[in-house]
Amino acid sequence: MKILIINAGSSSLKYQFMESEGGEVFAKGLCERIGIDGRLTHKVPGREDVKLDIPMPTHNEAIQAVLDIMVDPEKGVISSVDEIAAVGHRVLHGGMAFTASCIIDDACIEAIKKCIPLGPLHNPANLMGIEACQKIMPNTPQVAVFDTAFHMTMPPKAYIYAIPYEYYEKDDVRRYGFHGTSHRYVSARAIDMLGNPEHSKVISCHLGNGSSLAAIVDGKVVDTSMGLGPLAGFPMGTRSGDVDATILEYLMGRYNYSIKEMLNILNKKSGVLGISGVSSDFRDLDAAAAEGNQRAQLALDKFIYEVKKYIGAYAAAMGGVDAIIFTAGIGENSMDLRQNICDGLDYMGVKMDAEKNRVRGKEADVSAEDSKVKIFIIPTNEELMIAMDTAELCKK
Ligand code: ADP
Repeated sequence: MKILIINAGSSSLKYQFMESEGGEVFAKGLCERIGIDGRLTHKVPGREDVKLDIPMPTHNEAIQAVLDIMVDPEKGVISSVDEIAAVGHRVLHGGMAFTASCIIDDACIEAIKKCIPLGPLHNPANLMGIEACQKIMPNTPQVAVFDTAFHMTMPPKAYIYAIPYEYYEKDDVRRYGFHGTSHRYVSARAIDMLGNPEHSKVISCHLGNGSSLAAIVDGKVVDTSMGLGPLAGFPMGTRSGDVDATILEYLMGRYNYSIKEMLNILNKKSGVLGISGVSSDFRDLDAAAAEGNQRAQLALDKFIYEVKKYIGAYAAAMGGVDAIIFTAGIGENSMDLRQNICDGLDYMGVKMDAEKNRVRGKEADVSAEDSKVKIFIIPTNEELMIAMDTAELCKK
């Protein structure tokens, strides 16, 4: 089935048009500066990229621009919009309402709206993408795929916060976790690569701009590092990860910060950028550290240390581990980081083969022959997961 995948942000919208069986990508691109002026970048494999300035006052014009370029006789890939069998939308927060993907109808939209307080930045933007598609392609089925859904199998002891229980009961305060679509894709691949055993214990390390780990037993998440929102866990590009809440009170008092300013610091100015003062990009940090920048080195050391701690914690939580997966920008590309994270874990049976680890962006088993734990690099493919869910729900 040919599926259009939409990932709508507040002023941008990514799209990908692909085959749900086999995953061939026909076209993909990005609408930027929605509500400001509007720019479209359209990519078709084997052709030159197209960049166009198109007015996009709202997401409606952005979706229309995507459809127009898709059917353009020269730059397009289809002759009619009817060739788009269905649309799959990435939605950030499904709260407790969504444990799986769902066909978008009025009830689904209402439930996504109810999750806005939990995902105040992303859910409204995701809804704008959905509503634009409904308006412009009213007869094409739409599906919502949630970043949180895969984590909904966590047991209460993993998802409950140790604050008064009424906040869970009345206000839905709990751990949700994110990158669920990515963790689902790579863990399914890993279980396949393990030979589909009846029982499996997998740690999935999604290390990109935003990063999270998930502990997965028999294909089901039992714990994950992000929380109610994507700020939690270990340090990321610009996000702090977990911090002692006392720091908020202390700094807000000293500098008269509002909670909004404080959260902006934790979301946008922290993580490895905050520690290094150099960059949120690990390639820049590697370069700076190689030139002797000690804060860049400290940021890398902190990141490696915290990921290693989570791996140890999840191995303990699961009572062992059969495979560790590295995925996303850093996990797929940074040989040094993978090596440093796995260094010193031989007591757990984790032994990397340094030669095999010299690989980038390709599926690979990089564990040593005598490693008890498999170490896999698995490029993530969230779009394929969204396309497959969309096709499956539409067939039903
Ligand atoms: P996003 O969370 O935005 O999807 P990605 O998964 O694409 O992010 O990861 C982006 C990050 O991957 C970059 O910020 C960069 O730090 C890292 N990265 C990409 N290539 C390399 C590389 N060769 N070495 C180290 N880090 C890399």
